Amino acid sequence: MACGEFTCTQVVEHYLSRIRQHSHLNAFVEVFAEEALQRAAALDRKLNDPGSWGRLFGVVVGIKDVICYKDHPVSASSAMLKGFTSQYSATAVERLLEEDAIIIGSLNCDEFAMGSSNEHSVHGKVLNALDETRVPGGSSGGSAVAVQAGLCRVSLGSDTGGSVRQPADFCGIIGLKPSYGRISRHGLIAYASSFDQIGIFSTTIEDAATVLSVIAGPDAYDSTCTQEAVPDYLGALQQQASYRIAYFPESLEHPSLDPEIKSAIQQRMAVLSKAGHTLSPVRFDYLDYIVPAYYVMTTAEASSNLSRYDGVRFGHRSANANELESLYTRSRSEGFGKEVKRRIMLGSFVLSAGYYDAYFSKAQQIRKLIVQTTQEIFASHDLIIMPTVPAPAFRFGEKSKNAVDMYLGDLYTVFANLAGIAAVSLPLFRHSNGMPFGMQVMSDRKNETKLLDFAAGEVKG
Ligand code: GLN
Repeated sequence: MACGEFTCTQVVEHYLSRIRQHSHLNAFVEVFAEEALQRAAALDRKLNDPGSWGRLFGVVVGIKDVICYKDHPVSASSAMLKGFTSQYSATAVERLLEEDAIIIGSLNCDEFAMGSSNEHSVHGKVLNALDETRVPGGSSGGSAVAVQAGLCRVSLGSDTGGSVRQPADFCGIIGLKPSYGRISRHGLIAYASSFDQIGIFSTTIEDAATVLSVIAGPDAYDSTCTQEAVPDYLGALQQQASYRIAYFPESLEHPSLDPEIKSAIQQRMAVLSKAGHTLSPVRFDYLDYIVPAYYVMTTAEASSNLSRYDGVRFGHRSANANELESLYTRSRSEGFGKEVKRRIMLGSFVLSAGYYDAYFSKAQQIRKLIVQTTQEIFASHDLIIMPTVPAPAFRFGEKSKNAVDMYLGDLYTVFANLAGIAAVSLPLFRHSNGMPFGMQVMSDRKNETKLLDFAAGEVKG
């Protein structure tokens, strides 16, 4: 655009035509075609004045269907919110718009961001563009496929336990989950509030860094948002420093890890060490506790967060109720899907008198241990390397019969959410079955600069 080669309108037309050609992938819930074209035409009026451009001038962005955009539908891919329109925009969305981005549509996901395969959506499943018989990952499957298939330049997702990194891994793109509190959660439909974080899908680290620098930072509407000023993430990519990198031998010896993923990551670590980084094994005894701790705590938080959908204030209201209690039960029974109901029930159970100490308190203790151990590791290391997933994208239906099987696939991603640290999945490898897979790198809370600097070297290298 700066060279005058094309206009914002042409860029939007390009993506709209790709969205039409790839509609069978089912990545989009809604395409804001007319509006995106109008916005592009308005931006084109300042095409000759680059000094007036925002930092995301003409960048076409898709947003997960759990992120509010004023006067646009948002459904959390649930029948519960069918026909619901956002009354305000998420802070992240407002910041994108202030910097002249163009929002092209909302993206399909697992209902209320609960899932790892995008098979739990009222709008139907999303197909992985590299192999349409396989899942794109979840819960932000639509956000991943939209970037994977070139239907928008970058997209936003949300990551409570891996929902940005895992689908990015399955689709062969970059998925960044910043530290907890780096990006405001205002306008993000809540799943588990002490874990939820907006994340970014892109094909380059430069794009992820630029979008992060726009949407990160303090926000009066989210008191858990970090108060620190936003560093220059793009500038930090120039450092290319040598880093002290920790890895957990237990994570590479885990029985669920695919042998090809294990050897790819081991080989990559050998290359990194030759390139001047220091790699050290660190003992980590909690690997088998983190998935249970995550599912106890997140379902507990979800059971509380989702109590607002009662047929009175929000969402679906049953036509078959004749008094208040049946209005609640019928509205919730009709509005929520199976996985969401399972989690509300699990969450209510672990919070109930008599079981609270056995489950919820224990999970809190584990979380505390993980936070402490992570802080100790980062006292003498800059980064931690782990696989993103134990196995690459699976086929539709393969894991939907056994919920625990699906949950165990979150082994490597939930760690960063329990600890509140930043993590990125980098698309570095390809499996002999043809599917891509990534390497996960983590940095201490609020230290995305190191993470992105290292990532930029890896993705280029
Ligand atoms: N797969 C995880 C789950 O089902 C992660 C979800 C998420 O990060 N939103 O909870």
